[in-house]
Amino acid sequence: MSDEIEVNATRKYKLDYIVTEGKQPPPEIHGDVFDRQRVMKNFDQHSVEQQHIFVLGVGGIGSSIAMSLVRMGVDTIYLLDRDFVDASNLNRQILFSLLDVGKSKVEVAAQHLKCIHNLRTNIYDYHMDAVINWSCVVEIAKKCTVIFNNVDYGAVFDYAVNSLCKSLGILYVAGSTYANNIEINLFSGLLNDPCWACNNNTNDSFKFNIEEIENRNDIQLLLKEICCISGEQAQSIIEECSNELNLHQPSVLQLSTLFMPLYQQKVLKLLLPQSIQLHHSIEFIPKDRSFPTRTVGSWVGVCVSGACLIVNTWIQYLMKTKNSNSDTNQSFHNWSQLNLSMLDGGYDTVGFPNEQTLQCCLICSNAKQIAKQNSYLEKNIST
Ligand SMILES: [Zn+2]
Repeated sequence: MSDEIEVNATRKYKLDYIVTEGKQPPPEIHGDVFDRQRVMKNFDQHSVEQQHIFVLGVGGIGSSIAMSLVRMGVDTIYLLDRDFVDASNLNRQILFSLLDVGKSKVEVAAQHLKCIHNLRTNIYDYHMDAVINWSCVVEIAKKCTVIFNNVDYGAVFDYAVNSLCKSLGILYVAGSTYANNIEINLFSGLLNDPCWACNNNTNDSFKFNIEEIENRNDIQLLLKEICCISGEQAQSIIEECSNELNLHQPSVLQLSTLFMPLYQQKVLKLLLPQSIQLHHSIEFIPKDRSFPTRTVGSWVGVCVSGACLIVNTWIQYLMKTKNSNSDTNQSFHNWSQLNLSMLDGGYDTVGFPNEQTLQCCLICSNAKQIAKQNSYLEKNIST
């Protein structure tokens, strides 16, 4: 028997077995690194090995997600992040060490994944800003089966990534942690399933506190300083809004009740499936004025266990869709929230079933409209 480590047993031995209750596992292939996954009930290692995954953001959650996916043996993983390692990251971002402070997060993450965790996966890293380099995000997403969105930019960025997933028909998985809380979102990207926007809105991202905008009359500068809105496209949307409303120096009240709702309407329209793949940058979207991690705290337990639960949600969904006997819609939840703190009442999980609500959102109806137009075109070309 050879002492070589076997990392491609699925392809080599054409194994697609699943151990069922009451049966003995098949004989172990010497050196097969994925043996303990293969023998799990309802686990299909072959479909894990076909996954091409986009991990947006390799911070607290993203670095542990990347580590789990690589250990499971996915085909390819694309990592994207714009940040550099900071000393304050090291208590929980497990792919970085003391020697990495000041270095590019994705570059170090990719390097550590390759050195320590990788068994068979192709790993690519992109040190860039997803908002500024949106066209690169689109090109990577086109090669993937799922996006794990861990970027902390705000609701409109999540809206954009969700719309991109819907336009490509790929899974949207998102997770976040807040002190001891973990939130998990999973949406299939399928035409008749709900999406993130069916149950969330972006209204707060387009609102101001009165103190923030008092005595300021340059709208462009105001949006840049408070919401990080910039670029040529933002400039033309601002001009369109000002002209349509005939408001060039709006009052605080006009800005929040007239200008921003119109700006929101135009931005959300640009982010629909029909045009989400066409933008070079999406700097015209607002960044949320969310509180920094420092105000709520974070630790390795919540990041690592949160990431494992997020990956687990995805893997359960993947296995359900592979198993023709299971009813995906009946038993799957799009949203769960857990609290790790035993002092605050222990673990908690809630969610809603994977059913399209009666009123589907603009993204879902736009995706359906495009599919209808495409099938009409196809029919006309073939006849
Ligand atoms: Zn929707």
